[in-house]
Amino acid sequence: MTLRDRFQRPLRDLRISVTDRCNFRCTYCMPREHFGSEHAFLPRSDLLTYEEIVTVVKSLVPAGLEKVRLTGGEPLLRSDIAALVRLLKEAGPHIDLAMTTNGALLSNHAQELADAGLNRVTVSLDALNPTTFATMADTTKTTPETVLEGLESAKKAGLVVKVNTVVRRGVNENEILPLAEACSGLGVPLRFVEFMDVGNTNAWQLEEVVSGAEVRAVIEGRFGPLTPHKGQKVHEVARRFATAEGQEFGFINSVTQPFCGDCSRARLSANGSLYTCLFSSKGHDLKGLLRMQATTDEVQAAIKSLWTDRNDQYSVERHQHQDVATKVEMSFIGG
Ligand code: SAM
Ligand code: SF4
Ligand code: SF4
Repeated sequence: MTLRDRFQRPLRDLRISVTDRCNFRCTYCMPREHFGSEHAFLPRSDLLTYEEIVTVVKSLVPAGLEKVRLTGGEPLLRSDIAALVRLLKEAGPHIDLAMTTNGALLSNHAQELADAGLNRVTVSLDALNPTTFATMADTTKTTPETVLEGLESAKKAGLVVKVNTVVRRGVNENEILPLAEACSGLGVPLRFVEFMDVGNTNAWQLEEVVSGAEVRAVIEGRFGPLTPHKGQKVHEVARRFATAEGQEFGFINSVTQPFCGDCSRARLSANGSLYTCLFSSKGHDLKGLLRMQATTDEVQAAIKSLWTDRNDQYSVERHQHQDVATKVEMSFIGG
């Protein structure tokens, strides 16, 4: 059985935020003036337990779930995250299990995550220049070298590794080529993400979006023409390309080339609400159900009723929604 929404899009991909906390304060995601010491993060009792997360995943396995991505906030801040990976692998051995992380703590965890059954890791890295990195991530504790060490550890542990870079005009355009050279040297695919208007705190302005097309021109200027990557799949958010030497570059052009038509992603917040779109104002509480000891069939029925009613396509309709002041924050539901 496959769950399909009002536009016939299946639910294939579940992104699970395991915490709303983070050790960075990236200006485009958790600006410090909004996420400072007075910010009320979720109390521990509100976080879904690993058993509750597994119940949600188990309920979706017979409904066509193919991919689970652990995210946050920073997923490596959640204690013993490898235990969750192990439980998820048992719940759905065929599921492609991935994590998105800022890489600060990856060196310490890469091997145990791989041993537990994690397949892939996406490391977010916006700059190699330490000053630009510190400005973008608003941290003084982690350096780009630490993130690169984490990335190397993940490779050594046998995880499939990618790098994601958000480009913000006037801040890190100069990092496009250094990052491209570094990833090329490491043989790791690099994907450029357009700065998005997620949430209400990052002071997003269209002028600060560096389009994938602009970045591609910079890459082609250095590496030569890019050709479509043979591994491209229909539902992937990134448009993937390769250089003549085989280095992969991807572009996640969610502002300039929306991909809602193929969107098969649901998001589960750390406190157990299901969001059917990254730009939703409202989640649908599953925690209440889970804490009443609901069976996987009951959880599946609840998600089915939400998913079959889904008609989200925010990126396509972006211009109509610019005044929405209650969008959920990305650090809350996960990227
Ligand atoms: N903390 C982890 C990390 O940074 O990889 C996981 C969570 S983070 C919310 C997931 C991804 O969302 C990161 O790659 C980050 O760069 C991206 N992201 C956050 N805010 C964004 C924005 N406004 N536009 C585009 N991407 C954004
Ligand atoms: Fe933290 Fe990731 Fe958001 Fe940066 S993008 S503040 S690392 S959750
Ligand atoms: Fe999916 Fe919503 Fe993003 Fe469109 S805007 S691709 S529906 S999450």
